[in-house]
Amino acid sequence: MRKLAGHIRDYIKGRCSGDEVFQVETIGRLIDGDFTGSMSYGEVMKHGDFGLGTFVDLDGEMAAVDGQFWHFGPDGRGTPVAPEDRTPFAVVKFFRPDIAFRLDGPCTMAALEAAVDARLPAADALCAVRAKGHFRSARFRVVLRQDHPSTLEEAARTQSEQDMTGLEGQLVGFRFPADSAPVEVPGYHLHLIADGGRIGGHFHGGTMEDLTVEIDLSDHLHLAAHDAMARLALGASRRMKDEIERAERGRSD
Ligand SMILES: [Zn+2]
Repeated sequence: MRKLAGHIRDYIKGRCSGDEVFQVETIGRLIDGDFTGSMSYGEVMKHGDFGLGTFVDLDGEMAAVDGQFWHFGPDGRGTPVAPEDRTPFAVVKFFRPDIAFRLDGPCTMAALEAAVDARLPAADALCAVRAKGHFRSARFRVVLRQDHPSTLEEAARTQSEQDMTGLEGQLVGFRFPADSAPVEVPGYHLHLIADGGRIGGHFHGGTMEDLTVEIDLSDHLHLAAHDAMARLALGASRRMKDEIERAERGRSD
């Protein structure tokens, strides 16, 4: 079985095609409450045209598609990301789909995830996922700017939660191997971009239909993190899986 460390090792050994997922810092760093910016979005944009992330002090959610980067604020409203905006955590890729299929629905987020899983070449595949269609309902959150020291889990308790119906939109995000904590969110992490970027955030679930689903398989993770090796070592003793679950998953569908 190919685990997260294998994806990173392949990169270090240069055994890769260049079809990489590029990540700024780790989810474990947010869990520990370090929300300082370590890279500008202008720099992040050189590594992908698709992806997700957040901003300094957890000031909103980021989602990108077709080279358009959006910043979703407290009420879920989107504005374009400025290249000088900095990020404490972002994951991007140049999105070039390898697999595409239709999902008529109506379906839940769990059904979408199962449909993608069923088409992957390996159980621990690392890939980007895009699902475009109609949202009968959508539940999503936006993290709010933290003006005092806190952790991601504490921030999630004060997040702005939105429930909306009748949206046209798309989900953008990634699927990481199950052992990816504390480097990444294990499994699926998807952000919503609806009404052409007018509204969006970190997706928690909903009822979707008429979906066009695209999967872009990657052969390695390029981790631009100050403490990547320390995080990997830490992962052996403290996986942070429960903390990540509590901070990043919504109520069940
Ligand atoms: Zn998110």
